[in-house]
Amino acid sequence: MLKKRREEFLYDRNISISKNLDILESAKRKLSDSVDPYDMAQSQIDIVAEKMGLNNNITKYLKKVERSLIVSIPIMMDDGTLEIFEGYRVHHSTLRGPGKGGIRFAPNVNLNEVKALAIWMTWKCSLLNLPLGGAKGGVCVDPKKLSKGELERLTRRYTAEILNFIGPDIDIPAPDMNTNAQVMAWIMDTYSMHKGKAIPGVVTGKPIEIGGSVGRESATGMGLFYVLESLCIKLNLDLKDSKVVVQGFGNVGGHIAEILYNMGAKVIALSDITGGLYHEDGLNISTLLKWRDKNCYLKDFKNDDYKFISNEDLLTLDCDILIPAAIENQITHINAHDIKCKIVLEGANGPTTPEADEILNHNGIIVIPDILANAGGVCVSYFEYIQDIHSYFWDINRINKELKTIIVKAFEEVYKLSKKNKVSLRIAAYMIAISRLAKAFELRGIFP
Ligand code: NAD
Repeated sequence: MLKKRREEFLYDRNISISKNLDILESAKRKLSDSVDPYDMAQSQIDIVAEKMGLNNNITKYLKKVERSLIVSIPIMMDDGTLEIFEGYRVHHSTLRGPGKGGIRFAPNVNLNEVKALAIWMTWKCSLLNLPLGGAKGGVCVDPKKLSKGELERLTRRYTAEILNFIGPDIDIPAPDMNTNAQVMAWIMDTYSMHKGKAIPGVVTGKPIEIGGSVGRESATGMGLFYVLESLCIKLNLDLKDSKVVVQGFGNVGGHIAEILYNMGAKVIALSDITGGLYHEDGLNISTLLKWRDKNCYLKDFKNDDYKFISNEDLLTLDCDILIPAAIENQITHINAHDIKCKIVLEGANGPTTPEADEILNHNGIIVIPDILANAGGVCVSYFEYIQDIHSYFWDINRINKELKTIIVKAFEEVYKLSKKNKVSLRIAAYMIAISRLAKAFELRGIFP
């Protein structure tokens, strides 16, 4: 994966831009038609607040973000022209500790999306009972159109612009869509240069050589697997016999597809932004990972046995487990009635709209919500943060063992509450996360 990330920087931009522009444009159009993620995150709070009988003041407080920063990032491009990009960093809540959340570089990123993502980070950290709050960042840019030098300048200038907003005791960024260990290394270096000393704890998801943690890159995929495995035990469903569909073939989608494939599940369909591949007897994930790591898109993969399908069609395939692991807003009121799986395992953040969630619940489809399902990433980020602070590093066995303990414990709490209160796993997860925040709010009070 790291190799692929490094290679991405060496991307031949002319060929790839023209080849994929139409696809990116259509994805952008689709996004602009969809639900505003901030509205979605706020309505999720309302739904749960009503079920919990949450105090109105706390509901009002949690629906707002603590602070948002919008920055302009001027970059001198390689051809001598000046481009100005817009960047964001949002702190939703630091009630339970410093903010924590990734940074995404994507052409559609906007403030409302970042606010929603920061809110979901708050719930995720609270649900795992980590002493962290929720934050998120983003830059509105298509990084694939930048050279390595341009990307580095963009990252460093963005870091300089948000410098006072981040720090080991304030807010600790991490990778998200289209950012990686190298981008985190540039952030760590820029921050450290300004402070006059090495401060590895300012970001997580760094390369291991400069204070990163083993197991961070695969952590989200491992976490997805641990919750899925726990649910399958409850449902008496043998994962080895299951048919799996994965949307998104990046860090999250790639790792969970690989884990399930290696344990014998049939991954019958898999997609990236260009579309998906389908075979009823299962795809060869090892081969596809090698293809992806050469910077190739699935639409160019040649195999006469595999059928090429759209991302829309992929979501409605008949399967046991559907894993949306690309972007938000993929399962909506428009396609929710056509979803045919037993379990939706949310690898992405916010892939299911609240309306769609209701439809899935009504149709008996179990949704493992994002704040539980994909929390493995932030969990190992937390381990990295602890390791940096103590300058003492763990081995992979310890990482995976402690990750499993925390994730499975959170799953069991959620499952138990969902049974007890006869609510969905999402509502139960939100109830646990929000009740911990409500307690913190009550104890800390409002300043002044
Ligand atoms: P990534 O950039 O590594 O991969 C994203 C994948 O989604 C790529 O295969 C891309 O081609 C595909 N994609 C992008 N836009 C698409 C579209 N419109 N339709 C279909 N496919 C599309 O990103 P990632 O790190 O794997 O993150 C994926 C999701 O998981 C995001 O929602 C992210 O916030 C969430 N997440 C990531 C982590 C992490 O540790 N990386 C942790 C928790 C949650």
